Amino acid sequence: MANSIYKDNPIPVANIDGAELETIAVRAGHQRTHELEHSEAIFPTSSFVFNSASEAAARFSGEVEGNIYSRFTNPTVQAFEERIAAMEGGERAVATASGMAAIMSTCVALLKQGDHVVCSRSVFGTTNVFFQKYMSKFGVETTFVELTDLESWRSAIKENTALLFLETPSNPLCEIADITQLADLAHKHGALLAVDNCFCTPILQRPLDFGADIVIHSATKYLDGQGRCIGGVVVGSNQVMEDVYGFLRSAGPTMSPFNAWVFLKGLETLSIRMRAHSESALIIAQWLESKESVETVFYTGLESHAQYELAKKQQSGFSGVLSFRIKGGREEAWKLIDGLQFLSITANLGDTKTTITHPATTTHGRLSDEDKVRSGITENLIRISVGLESVEDIKKDLQAGFISSGLE
Ligand SMILES: *Cc1c(COP(=O)(O)O)cnc(C)c1O
Repeated sequence: MANSIYKDNPIPVANIDGAELETIAVRAGHQRTHELEHSEAIFPTSSFVFNSASEAAARFSGEVEGNIYSRFTNPTVQAFEERIAAMEGGERAVATASGMAAIMSTCVALLKQGDHVVCSRSVFGTTNVFFQKYMSKFGVETTFVELTDLESWRSAIKENTALLFLETPSNPLCEIADITQLADLAHKHGALLAVDNCFCTPILQRPLDFGADIVIHSATKYLDGQGRCIGGVVVGSNQVMEDVYGFLRSAGPTMSPFNAWVFLKGLETLSIRMRAHSESALIIAQWLESKESVETVFYTGLESHAQYELAKKQQSGFSGVLSFRIKGGREEAWKLIDGLQFLSITANLGDTKTTITHPATTTHGRLSDEDKVRSGITENLIRISVGLESVEDIKKDLQAGFISSGLE
């Protein structure tokens, strides 16, 4: 009777119909086994057994629902999928091995040879490489446009445009796209809009509410938020997700049960973490902005941000990532970074630990000089992902960096 413990006879945990986002983040997707464990169970198993040959046949034919093999479904992974789908306000989510696997699975599942994609120029570097180098091999052409310029999106659209893809806010300059406008534009031309919601998470922004069709996450960032696991997820309507799921099941970049469990636990603290990240980042951004040695600070929470009003309309907080240009060049930027005592020099972001990086020579180092200029990735630009340490200690450490850079 091993099979019946969980899938065939789940014990509902609680009724959270109509609950707020913070409650959903803690409780959605949870079913108990007959052991009545309080925390979510983890099912680190590659396959599932059947009580009889006929039951095996019934499961394989789909006549009886149930787990077969963890590349298809796994209860821990499903719990994570249900929770994040509920948080994004989507019908269904599909978890993947990484953020890039989420992007790849979406594109391969939904696009075909001869289709055209319009993509923001300001996307994660590897996303750019994926479209330019790999989708093009299969006859899917991509046009890159200015994230904030609606006209540039409009004029890039062709008869065969099937997908618009963007991140908002963008990395590292924190530019924002108006999701409603771009969703309208996509739908007028029969295309889908996909939003990589990695920076905000559903706590601060829910792109589906503004008309986007697909939300993508690198769960590696804020969803885990503690730098432990690589993972990704795609959220959308049942119809769209059926295709993504079909591809994933056939191609295989699925999420492991262990990682799904870590992400489930990450979601439970996401709301307080995002608010704390946002609060500290605003303090750091304002402090940087008051400095003589700083040329510009890019953070959506600053009133000086060109799209501050749009940020307030679309987001309920401003996240922890910001960047700034110093009055100097690569030498001063590197010296500032090397003069830090504890901030982590790493390209990762969305972590409890504050991270710092020089985009021009790391995350965006693969861009051509021309693309760097066009994307504003200058040699004097530094990006910080503000963590959950004491904000006074973060300031103190940055100040040590400013002093050793010779800027102060
Ligand atoms: C990190 C990141 C990705 C890729 O995610 P992985 O989990 O590293 O594969 C995609 N988009 C954004 C915005 C990211 O920051």
